[in-house]
Amino acid sequence: MSNPLLEDWTGPHGLPPFAAARAEHFAPAFAEAMRQQLAEIEAIGANPAPPTFANTVAALDSAGRLFERIGSMFHNLTSSETSPALQAVEREMAPLLAAHDSRVYTDAALFARIDVLHAGRERSGLDDEERRVLERFHLDFVRAGAKLAPAAQARYAEVMQRLAALTTRFGQNVLADESSFQLLLKTEDDLAGLPDFVRTAARQAAAERGIGDAALITLARSHIVPFLTFSERRDLREQAWRAWTSRGEHAGANDNRQVAAEILALRLEQARLHGYASYADLALSDTMAQSQAAVTSLLERVWQPARARAEHERDALVALALSRGESSTIEPWDWRFYAEKVRQLRFDLDEASLKPYFPLDGMVEAAFDCASRLFGLRFVPRPEIAVYHPDVRVYEVRNADAAVIGLFLHDNFARPSKRSGAWMSAYRMQSRNGGGGPARVLPIIVNNNNFAKGAPGAPTLLSFDDARTLFHEFGHGLHGLLSDVTYERLSGTNVLRDFVELPSQLFEHWLEEPEVLKRHARHHRTGQPIPDAMIAKLHESRYFNQGFETVRYAASALVDMAAHARTDDASVDVVAFERDEVARLGLPAGVGMNHRLTHFQHLFSGSSYAAGYYVYLWAEVLDADGYEAFVEAGNPFDPTVARRLARYIYSAGNSIEPGAAYRAFRGRAARPEPMLRQRGLLEPVAD
Ligand SMILES: [Zn+2]
Repeated sequence: MSNPLLEDWTGPHGLPPFAAARAEHFAPAFAEAMRQQLAEIEAIGANPAPPTFANTVAALDSAGRLFERIGSMFHNLTSSETSPALQAVEREMAPLLAAHDSRVYTDAALFARIDVLHAGRERSGLDDEERRVLERFHLDFVRAGAKLAPAAQARYAEVMQRLAALTTRFGQNVLADESSFQLLLKTEDDLAGLPDFVRTAARQAAAERGIGDAALITLARSHIVPFLTFSERRDLREQAWRAWTSRGEHAGANDNRQVAAEILALRLEQARLHGYASYADLALSDTMAQSQAAVTSLLERVWQPARARAEHERDALVALALSRGESSTIEPWDWRFYAEKVRQLRFDLDEASLKPYFPLDGMVEAAFDCASRLFGLRFVPRPEIAVYHPDVRVYEVRNADAAVIGLFLHDNFARPSKRSGAWMSAYRMQSRNGGGGPARVLPIIVNNNNFAKGAPGAPTLLSFDDARTLFHEFGHGLHGLLSDVTYERLSGTNVLRDFVELPSQLFEHWLEEPEVLKRHARHHRTGQPIPDAMIAKLHESRYFNQGFETVRYAASALVDMAAHARTDDASVDVVAFERDEVARLGLPAGVGMNHRLTHFQHLFSGSSYAAGYYVYLWAEVLDADGYEAFVEAGNPFDPTVARRLARYIYSAGNSIEPGAAYRAFRGRAARPEPMLRQRGLLEPVAD
């Protein structure tokens, strides 16, 4: 039986065989790829020659490429374009893949060689990147249990397999709850308050699901947030809010309460096997922050001032509600609604009048143009290249010398087969260690968004927040595309996780530049640039509702930290735990948690952001301080600053220690004040 996944990938730039591959091809392809990788690993360990960097570390870095490309394709498809058949394979494969991982990273012969090289690394004449990749692999092995006694190692592998099964189930449960919810709007009364763009998106969603003559609100963020912002129907807002925030909390097949509790218990066991008191301690030991104390101290720095600001913001919402003869109690399904009304009154700026200036195509152009002015890149559309869904746009990325440096896939629209949120991922990472000599392996990078698609023939209009998300993910994309390192283990976004949001959040700053807005934020009908007065209002309203946004985020980060800092063995009731924690923190009334533990995918659909939701704020210290380098230079595209940015941040991957990389770019360590200033938290509360 031929398997297209195991044949040579002969598509343009080695893209996966999307058209030929079917769900049933993955399990046998994985089996063969795992067999090959284990054979490669065994051969490195069995080499009779003494260990050298080349025969051990470089060899390990280039091993397992078949496994990796099949895995990348699979994980990308299960996130962006899944199906019941793929989900079944995902459930079947998750524990097998985790077991494979354990076998690779506990291979005793291979680890013995790495350990010898690691012990002698100071006297071995390695260059900086070589030493760094050696240290990274050594730590990977240690953190995967290579140093544990055999019995502990066996238990550790079991824990990791069970975790893989549970995190897979967690994500599938959330998607099931999201796909099954539909708020049908049938009458004009149901649509009260909704601007045209929300109505259009809701009708489009209904049409896509074969429901004629109605409008439909789904749980996609680009549906639910505008609905909560504009709907005059308090009862429907409440219904939508409750559905959105109770995902994963319904008894039955998709209940995540027990899944999350078991994940937390297993993570605690995982940490203890390594000799740590809590999972947070284990997770943070491999970050820039290093300790719970450093994280809590940063979060507390914003928590108190943001809480005071949110209380103050609520007073204005109450006043507005009373002026309309409505209830003075602001519930979580009311906050966005009244905040938008206050914003319109105070700044004469409403989302509906902004959106025509933010058509998706124009914002994509804006992101490409900024990348061109900063880094000399050009994005050449290749519409003839078909990938996994007709909505995905494919671009060849060329540098200033017109050389192709990578491939970029832009997958912008929400659909039922795609998980919620926005993310960057890779089909292939950059390296110069691809087995075929020192040639640069071209990265294939994808950005996923979940924008509500415009009606057929009509443009998709973004909110300013959506445009910011587009720039954010594109910043991650550039981190993957501009990567210029030798070893794949250090490539692109393979950095410490509290550094990984720096390239993405930094890139958001260019969207706010008046010069960029004038050039690219053009009315989709008239082509007129966004008026200066509107830009001024956007800037004036920058701090508006920042108390709400900051406490909402910080509360989620603090609950994440508390859940993973637990040291007691008793199984936890995650719903009660979250409720108590939120009460203890003193979340201002009416704010509401929209990342509840039962659907908090950052924490439970995988482990890379567990005890790590704080990383956005950590990186914000760096991005706010970093952007000021351009402000100080007096030019948002200053070529000297941009060159340093490219070299030390966007191209360096993990080849330089992150603190040192930042200092090389900025000339000094980061200071927290610019972050506090950009959130409006340096000034005392006053309007
Ligand atoms: Zn990000």
